[in-house]
Amino acid sequence: MQLDFLTLLATTAISLFLISASLPLIMGRNISAAARYMQASLLLQALAWATIIGSTYVAGTLADRILSSLSIGCGCWAQWMNYRALAGWLGPRPFPRTLLALVVATPLGYFLSFGSYPIRVGYANAMLAVITLLVAWATLRPLRPAESGWRRLILVSMLTMAGLTLARGIVGTFTDQYPSFRTPHPVNVAFAMGACVTVVLNTIAMLVAWRDEAEYKLRELALTDPLTDLPNRRGYELRAVAMLALAHRHQQPLTAIMLDLDHFKQVNDTHGHEMGDRALRLFSQALTDTCRSGDLVARLGGEEFCALLMHDTAHAGALFDRRLRQRLYQASAAELGFVLDYSGGMATLQPGESDLAALMARADGALYAAKIAGRGQLMAAP
Ligand code: GH3
Ligand code: MG
Ligand code: MG
Repeated sequence: MQLDFLTLLATTAISLFLISASLPLIMGRNISAAARYMQASLLLQALAWATIIGSTYVAGTLADRILSSLSIGCGCWAQWMNYRALAGWLGPRPFPRTLLALVVATPLGYFLSFGSYPIRVGYANAMLAVITLLVAWATLRPLRPAESGWRRLILVSMLTMAGLTLARGIVGTFTDQYPSFRTPHPVNVAFAMGACVTVVLNTIAMLVAWRDEAEYKLRELALTDPLTDLPNRRGYELRAVAMLALAHRHQQPLTAIMLDLDHFKQVNDTHGHEMGDRALRLFSQALTDTCRSGDLVARLGGEEFCALLMHDTAHAGALFDRRLRQRLYQASAAELGFVLDYSGGMATLQPGESDLAALMARADGALYAAKIAGRGQLMAAP
């Protein structure tokens, strides 16, 4: 079987154009920025291959110089889009400025050094290999097992492409066996086959990443209260169990405060359900503002909330209650036109205690006592 470079590249370009055209149809309009970057990357790769094929028909002319530089530019920009997609899916990645500088410098240097074949080929391929390695590096950390599959696929395809690009650069610069894209050199053929494989692997990886993203969003949705955007009971329990285990292991204090709005049914009856909803949002905002980073607040249901304060003692819990009450009185009077009040029950983690349900039950008991004692106050569990 005779594998020629241009046919392989043309096949790759056509595949990329087809994928670029069909993915938006499959994925729809409402996709994340990360998915959009991946789609842009595929289209740029298609353009990169198309322009390089075009350049071989006008070899040695100014059009060649422009088309080839454009191709290198599209290839570099495609990698930058890959990098942005990874950052969108996985959080900030290392070396963004270095990568961007390389992405800009590579086509520019290629255009300027076009007159010397060995220099431009060596330069462009070395730079492309470094860019590809940086994107490969960006798939590595932090690696969580649940999402490692697609990242490994991208890593493997990037490393393969980096190796083949480097090989092309070396052959082009230091030997005279590889004077053009039309030469049936084994490195050329391997490179084109690598490009085909990369397209397949990257597309699969991208679709899996996209599915992971959708799954993550659904999971978050199931754990979040839509009215206040706070964690709901299920979200609270998941996070609270982790905090409790941490506090238990490091023997750090932890305080749970159950909060229940007073006479909230009357708020609804007097001011309407919509005002009731506004009051719930205002309360959740006051609660969030009163917390410090590391604390956990949640809406457990109806007009019942909970705060789990890290590194706190009962005394700090009382201070928290005072700050929240002040903030709530001011904000509700100003924004709702009436004063919202609540009762609270507080329980502090006992030495050796590691059961969330027991801690919450004690806080709940204290809350009940606060209601009995006349509402509008915080009670501590004995
Ligand atoms: P107490 O001081 O004993 O806690 O009295 P309360 O009226 O606050 O308690 P009760 O449990 O009798 O009533 C809670 C009310 O909260 C009843 C329900 O209509 C209202 N509520 C629950 N969820 C929502 C919500 O999402 N929006 C609104 N507007 N009201 C809600
Ligand atoms: Mg209530
Ligand atoms: Mg209640």
